[in-house]
Amino acid sequence: MNRKYRKTIIAGNWKMNMLPSQVKPFADELKAVSPRAKWCETVICAPFVDLPAAIKAFKELRISVGAENLNENEKGAYTGEVAANMLVDLGVKYVIIGHSERRQYYGETDFSVNKKVHAALEAGLQPIVCVGESLEEREMGITLERINLQVKAALSGVSAEKMRRVVIAYEPIWAIGTGRTATAEQAGEVCGAIRGVIRDLYGARIARAVTIQYGGSMNDKNAAELLAQPDIDGGLIGGASLVPAKFAAIIAAANQE
Ligand code: PEP
Repeated sequence: MNRKYRKTIIAGNWKMNMLPSQVKPFADELKAVSPRAKWCETVICAPFVDLPAAIKAFKELRISVGAENLNENEKGAYTGEVAANMLVDLGVKYVIIGHSERRQYYGETDFSVNKKVHAALEAGLQPIVCVGESLEEREMGITLERINLQVKAALSGVSAEKMRRVVIAYEPIWAIGTGRTATAEQAGEVCGAIRGVIRDLYGARIARAVTIQYGGSMNDKNAAELLAQPDIDGGLIGGASLVPAKFAAIIAAANQE
């Protein structure tokens, strides 16, 4: 973390878990165990149907709410889809874009990710753009090339002004939901390289200010070590964000004096 230059963001990704009726009990439990988040912004990204309940329940806790996806079109005949301005109208602030599960199961590509990033920014949302290499790519030694390409493609055509609202999440695919976390050094190296790509594209000032999260089996035990890396400015947390005590411990790790 580098609190002088950029915001630390701890974001939960509930994925396809948590019923709307479970949101308020979760918020109450989190409130009971949660430390004061002095240094970080806390976000919960929830399934679409949970969003109204989440916005209501987390307001008092000063926790922002994010969606897990959006449609890149403004409106129209796209049955079953949700547009960026619908999320904004609800009071949603963030949206996860290009999570590896969406790339893997729903055919999202670097190109569709770029379109979604533009749609989110145009509507006033803050995209959390996920990038990450597969195990095969890491073993072949092409991690940084892969990440470089994903970051450049996702940000293609994004202005410097809008870049101030973009968050990048480095999520090695082999570490998501596997219990196998990247070492702090591995994660720090890639997050540093991502900042380097942003520096090349937008200059040192913007690169210094951009929040880059790590995601991939981050939990209450390993969060402090990962967050101690200078280029890791928070976490995108799946499994541990479903357990109030574990999520609270990660928030506490981000708020250590
Ligand atoms: C994620 O879904 O973005 C994630 C990192 O999941 P987990 O923390 O469960 O690995």
